[in-house]
Amino acid sequence: MNPDLSIIIPVKNEAGNVRELHRQLMHVLHVRGFDYEILFIDDGSRDTTLQELLKIRHADPFVRVFEMRKNVGKALALQVGFSHARGTYVITMDGDLQDDPAEIPRFVAKLNTGADVVSGWKIKRKDPLSKTIPSKIFNKLTAVCTGVEIHDFNCGFKAYRREVTRSLTLYGELHRYIPALAAWKGYRVTEIPVKHHPRKQGKSKYGITRIFKGFFDLITVSFLLQYRDKPLHLFGTVGFVLFTLGFIAGGYLTYLWYLDIVIWNRPLLILSVLLLILGVQFFFFGLIAEMIATQHVPDARSMVKHEY
Ligand code: UDP
Ligand code: MG
Repeated sequence: MNPDLSIIIPVKNEAGNVRELHRQLMHVLHVRGFDYEILFIDDGSRDTTLQELLKIRHADPFVRVFEMRKNVGKALALQVGFSHARGTYVITMDGDLQDDPAEIPRFVAKLNTGADVVSGWKIKRKDPLSKTIPSKIFNKLTAVCTGVEIHDFNCGFKAYRREVTRSLTLYGELHRYIPALAAWKGYRVTEIPVKHHPRKQGKSKYGITRIFKGFFDLITVSFLLQYRDKPLHLFGTVGFVLFTLGFIAGGYLTYLWYLDIVIWNRPLLILSVLLLILGVQFFFFGLIAEMIATQHVPDARSMVKHEY
């Protein structure tokens, strides 16, 4: 029998938190009478997290522990959980006690109303300003670039129907963009406000550099969402525009040359050659990208919502 809920918790150096987290989870899950499994992914911890997890597993047979060979990052850790989860609904949360297990029933209720993905929204975020301000900007920008109108993309606390998690492929740090990736596949994405607690034990794993990395990831995601299946549409268009500009400039110079006007000393000549070459380059770059795109054609069957 599949459980109702699979709760996926990636942890890296959270030895001081996992036991208390499990205790709080037990309270909520038992009071509500959910059938559950809890998947802890130990993402290359260097403290005693794994030992703590094994103790928990010993006491609770519904806990599964996955030990990664090395630190692979949150996105891959989540992916491990996604591919092993058996529950009808899948919930992800952080293992640092910043997410409150008491919110789980509200996530479930929201999924029951028909949503495919429910993303947590830390309205009152309990983190230092150095995190909350960049995060506000990041969220606005992401909403604009991806067209998904939610406030808190990076919240680790989310709930999904299992078919959503089965169809996602995360890598790098793309876990921040799950709502956008899911919405692009046609899943209904909503959000609910959640409580957020300050971190009491252990350290945050992400520093200020995440802003830059996040920015590059945003470019990746915006590109993938729009052009993954048709890269030539982007590169071809850019190439066409550049080539046309170069062609017009070159044509104009040719006309002057025909009128016996000296053109070799015109900077426009260099510009026109540059534009023509760039235009051709972009076009062929787009063709190569198309060849790569054919390597992973999306699975059309996974896009069918229901057969009547
Ligand atoms: N985490 C992980 N692998 C990593 C970094 C973080 O599994 O490489 C886990 C971490 O243990 C925590 C969650 O991801 O359970 C969120 O990390 P953190 O609290 O450091 O992020 P923040 O709340 O500062 O955004
Ligand atoms: Mg945290």
